[in-house]
This record gives sequence, C-alpha cells and structure tokens, in this order.
Amino acid sequence: MKNNLKLKELKDQLSGKSIDERLEILASIFNDKIIFTSSFGIEDQVITHKIFRNNLPIKVVTLDTGRLFPQTYEVFSNTIIKYRKKINVYFPDYMSVEKMVTEKGPFSFYDSIENRLECCRLRKVVPLSRALNGVDCWISGIRASQSDDRGQMDWIEYDEVKHLYKFYPLFDWSLEDVEKFIKDHNIPYNSLHDKGFVSIGCEPCTKAVKPGEDFRAGRWWWENEGPKECGCHVSQA
Ligand code: SF4
Repeated sequence: MKNNLKLKELKDQLSGKSIDERLEILASIFNDKIIFTSSFGIEDQVITHKIFRNNLPIKVVTLDTGRLFPQTYEVFSNTIIKYRKKINVYFPDYMSVEKMVTEKGPFSFYDSIENRLECCRLRKVVPLSRALNGVDCWISGIRASQSDDRGQMDWIEYDEVKHLYKFYPLFDWSLEDVEKFIKDHNIPYNSLHDKGFVSIGCEPCTKAVKPGEDFRAGRWWWENEGPKECGCHVSQA
C-alpha cells in the first residue's frame, strides 16, 4: 500500500470512472493486498464476474461456515467451472466450533442473541479476520438501498479499526440493476433468489421474505432486537 495515500486522493482518482476501471486502478495500487469477499449472493456474482472476466489480480474469498445451503455450494461450483478461476475458502477454527456445538448443541443460535453472535463470530468473523490479515483494500457487494444503515455508508471508506480501505463497487445500484446485469451476462446465481430469498446466509438462519419486506428481514428473523448483521461489517474498537 502507498502509506501516504489518503481517502480523498483515492476518491478523486476513482471518481468518474466505471466500475471496471475502479477495480483495475485499485488492483494496481494495492497489488496483492486487495481482496473481494463473496457469499455468492446476487451482488457478489456481478463483482466476481467483473474480476474474473477482466483477469484482475484481486483475490476472491469466501467464508464456508459449515451451515450453508446446498444451493450456495451449487453457485460456488458453477462459478469456478464457468470462469476457470480459484475462489479461496476460509473455514472456521474446528476446535472452537467443536467446543461450541459440544457444549451448546447445533442450534444454540436460536436461544439468545449472545449465542447467535458467538456462532457468527466463530464461523464468520474470525475466519474473515484471517482472510483480511495484511489486506489494505477490502471489496464487498454492499448496496446503499439494502438497509438504512448501509445507506449511511459511502461507496469507498477507510476503516480506522481494521486499518484498510473498503470499496463497494455496486453501492449505487438498485436490485433491478443487479438482476438485469446477471441476466444480460448469463451469470450463475443462487436459485434461492427466485424463491423469495434476498440476503442469503447460513441455512438455519435465513428464510424467504415477502415482497416489500426489509432486505434483512429473512436473517435471524426470531430476534426482535439488535442489528441484523453478523459482525463482519461492524468495526469494533
Ligand atoms: Fe451461526 Fe447462524 Fe451466524 Fe451462520 S448465520 S454463523 S449458523 S448464527
């Protein structure tokens, strides 16, 4: 990373450029210290397509929590077959998961927010930290219109806690934009999207939503309080 690079300079450099150009510029600035994390959601598939089709030297990463839908593994498989590229998989620490499931059972996340956050931390947040180790720029598929909280974010940010830049290539895209791009380019996508699943995470913690319901309504639906986030995009000092 260029240590003297400031967020404003980076923004100026990227402003007015296409997504493809932005990704290319960031890849050249950050060299091998730039990654894209995918959960194979519809937005992620657009970004994966752009990275792979343009042969960009950006590491594509996914977190396998061990509790994903079979349909998610199907997209994973179809994606690596279509593009003939590698997707780097990060698993949770097996000893931590073994201890949690031995002590609390396989559905502890339904019992309390604390248990749910513990499971998300072990299966997602810790492996993500491993994936982000040494990384200076993290790309993800967040869109502003997905939630009020996400709408408060910016298309490129500097995370003072994780000490890296975050870039959201599709920040200004609508869901319709995403769906059209997927269709126009014949990109593999998760078939659960056709069954009312919008934000797709782990199988026991995700359900379909009704038209007009909040983007995250199908995640951890039994919780009445707290953020509908796993902690991956929350920076804690
Ligand atoms: Fe565990 Fe559910 Fe979080 Fe997946 S989404 S890590 S199963 S609590």
